[in-house]
Amino acid sequence: MRRFAGACRFVYNKALALQKERYERGEKKLGYVRLCKLLTEWRNSAETAWLADVPIHPLQQKIKDLQRAYKNFFTKRAGLPRFKKKGRSDSFRYPDPEQIKLDQGNNRIFLPKLGWLRYRNSRKVLGDLRNVTISHACGKWFVSIQTKREVEQAIPQGGAVGIDMGVARFATLSSGEHLAPLDSFKRHETRLRKAQQAFSRKVKFSNNWRKAKARVQKIHARMANARRDFLHKTSTAISKNHAMVCIEDLQVRNMSKSAAGTTGTPGKNVRAKSGLNKSILDQGWFEFRRQLEYKMPWRGGRLIAVPPQNTSRTCPSCGHVSADNRQTQARFVCVGCGYENHADVVGAINILSRGMQVLRDEGRDTADASAGIQADGPPASVQMACGSNLVGGRKQEPTETTAHGAIHA
Ligand SMILES: [Zn+2]
Repeated sequence: MRRFAGACRFVYNKALALQKERYERGEKKLGYVRLCKLLTEWRNSAETAWLADVPIHPLQQKIKDLQRAYKNFFTKRAGLPRFKKKGRSDSFRYPDPEQIKLDQGNNRIFLPKLGWLRYRNSRKVLGDLRNVTISHACGKWFVSIQTKREVEQAIPQGGAVGIDMGVARFATLSSGEHLAPLDSFKRHETRLRKAQQAFSRKVKFSNNWRKAKARVQKIHARMANARRDFLHKTSTAISKNHAMVCIEDLQVRNMSKSAAGTTGTPGKNVRAKSGLNKSILDQGWFEFRRQLEYKMPWRGGRLIAVPPQNTSRTCPSCGHVSADNRQTQARFVCVGCGYENHADVVGAINILSRGMQVLRDEGRDTADASAGIQADGPPASVQMACGSNLVGGRKQEPTETTAHGAIHA
């Protein structure tokens, strides 16, 4: 599998180098068919004869990936395609379902030129097989199986909720409940630092250096897994129990790069902000939003992003807007009418009412909309079924459209 992934990377990089050369000479880019012909030549040439040991479809798929990368670049969805590095997202895909056999009962899968492989199942594979991707991460190989099937139109459950994302609290709901921060980084920070120090003391490329390197990578992988697990459990529970979720339309990517400013205009509060930025990235707000974006429609619900201005300064009772309303980080007391609440809850309530405004602007009846599409749902102030056990050991529902399992080869 490592060899196959390497060959795929080689083909991708070779084709990319070729396209770059042509561009510099002012020539037109080669199309998919032309590149595939070249691929056949490479497989037949004595210099790169080892490419012939690798199945053709995954290699062709890499050329498709490259064409897609260029397309994304030209439509301004991504930067210029870059050369792939060894050990970074090593993967290859079998695009032809005809050549794949899946034997779920025995936890094994047949792949061209690899034969039957046993895998550990993470969930049942439903529907017709479309393609299979093999990838490598943290010393393990994974198989992702994409399938196609018809699903029933889901009826949303529950009502509407506003969510305020924060650092001290990962998320605060307009109902008053909140989720503790993840802080996966802080929790593992000491262990990671020690491992990194030990790693830096080793003689480069020695056996001990290799072992220490593996240890550091393992801690990184643990942290990433803990974070992913937390985010998936949280977003699943919230999307299950609400027909409508409102969040602030924060540009997390911008927030996390703007702290230092530029040489012409240095940023303010760089240290405080970069600390905040580290927390933001560590919390995975952006990933959380991405998950809600696809999980809400799965259950017939809807995610609404609202403008974030003054959500923590506006009184939900009388509408007075003032920075003085927020006495401390946590405490909100309205200088106009005396309304008191936790500042994050106030933020979440304002976010919810802005989401309602979005619905009214669309000409929808909010009495009905407060329960999403359900006419007989609960009122806007909303029941919260995903309570304190949200973070706990609730069994995780299937979360991605592809099945995922580790291969024992
Ligand atoms: Zn007020």
